[in-house]
Amino acid sequence: MGQPPPAGTRRSRPAQSAPSADDSGALFGLEDLRTGPVPAGSARPGPLVGPSFRDSPAARRLLSVREIHAEPAAAASPRGRQILARFPEARVVDVESHWRIPELHGNEGNLERWVRIKSEVLVLGEKKTLHTRPNGRSADWIAPGPANGCAMACAYCYVPRRKGYANPITVFTNIEQIIGHLGRHVARQGPKREPNQCDPTAWVYDIGENNDCSVDALISENTADLVHAFARWPTAKASFATKFVNPDLLLLDPRGRTRVRFSVMPPQDSRLLDIRTSPVEQRIAAAADFLDAGYEVHFNLSPVVVRPGWEEDWAQLLRHMDDVLPRAVKEQAAAEMIMLTHNKDLHDLNLAWHPRAEELLWQPGLQQAKRSENGSWNVRYRTSGKAEAVASVRRLVASHAPWLRIRYAF
Ligand code: SF4
Repeated sequence: MGQPPPAGTRRSRPAQSAPSADDSGALFGLEDLRTGPVPAGSARPGPLVGPSFRDSPAARRLLSVREIHAEPAAAASPRGRQILARFPEARVVDVESHWRIPELHGNEGNLERWVRIKSEVLVLGEKKTLHTRPNGRSADWIAPGPANGCAMACAYCYVPRRKGYANPITVFTNIEQIIGHLGRHVARQGPKREPNQCDPTAWVYDIGENNDCSVDALISENTADLVHAFARWPTAKASFATKFVNPDLLLLDPRGRTRVRFSVMPPQDSRLLDIRTSPVEQRIAAAADFLDAGYEVHFNLSPVVVRPGWEEDWAQLLRHMDDVLPRAVKEQAAAEMIMLTHNKDLHDLNLAWHPRAEELLWQPGLQQAKRSENGSWNVRYRTSGKAEAVASVRRLVASHAPWLRIRYAF
């Protein structure tokens, strides 16, 4: 295997057609993401190609940075300087710690305010504690992520639990230290000797526990640097879940060592719950292009939300995946299935700005509460009902998408 391109370099690609808005009100139209006509009768869109997507109007609808709160050391670092140069119009505000910016992180206020903060504000900080911890479900290991926070605003998101619901993206600028830490961790493990459901041969590292790496790639080369680092490590594989289709990732060179997990749920649930994300149909349509670009492509069936008619809608989603995904995607695909976990504080907050979401998410008759370590009440489907729902999804997958191996259900 030859060397991957140096960190931060990208392959070039041909010109892209002009982006346009999507009539459905979704964040992006497919036209934003591809060039060339969709062949008549083809369920698969044309290739996702064009100039940097991150400079497109579609990307700016998600992220249009006007203010950057930066720890001085982060701003002075090479990655910090690249980010500041990328957003020259942004006002820069010095902060002591990326963890304590009360004017950004509070829970008060409505969605419009959070969304404005999420799309217009960035935080630059340094990840002080570099720690890789064991997982065993989604991945073998949870890596120290290259960012914390998200520009999207899913109604069930747990990521803001420590900062507050306006949690904008904090980019960790000490990416060389993060990659150095990971390289040493990978080396210490040696080859994986026993296959497990995470992967038969590679140690899998989740690099997106508290962030969406596809969105992070709109801001900096952190995602690219991690993808290229894992491309050099033959015993390990990066993995991240995403609800955002970023065609710029197709220009990287993952060499099969990064697993992208596109999260899917019935589109009618997603339109209500997955605020500011790419439509589910686009995530599915992008799978083949990501595979062609050298990624492993899996799916997260998550979160599964129990409501009247949910089984039929999941069956329809799985039939759609079976119809449109090419054989090559199916042959390597696997899935995680994750039942909804909710939270009492988040429920109260959502009631103030998005009560319709709570009609789906908050089902006291089906759910039970458990006090979490930080003292808040987490809510899950009751044990027996959850087991039935998991069995039901497994049956649906077996009958409508039998090629989709379920790695684990939680
Ligand atoms: S995409 Fe993921 S991290 Fe972002 S808001 Fe949705 S659930 Fe949270």
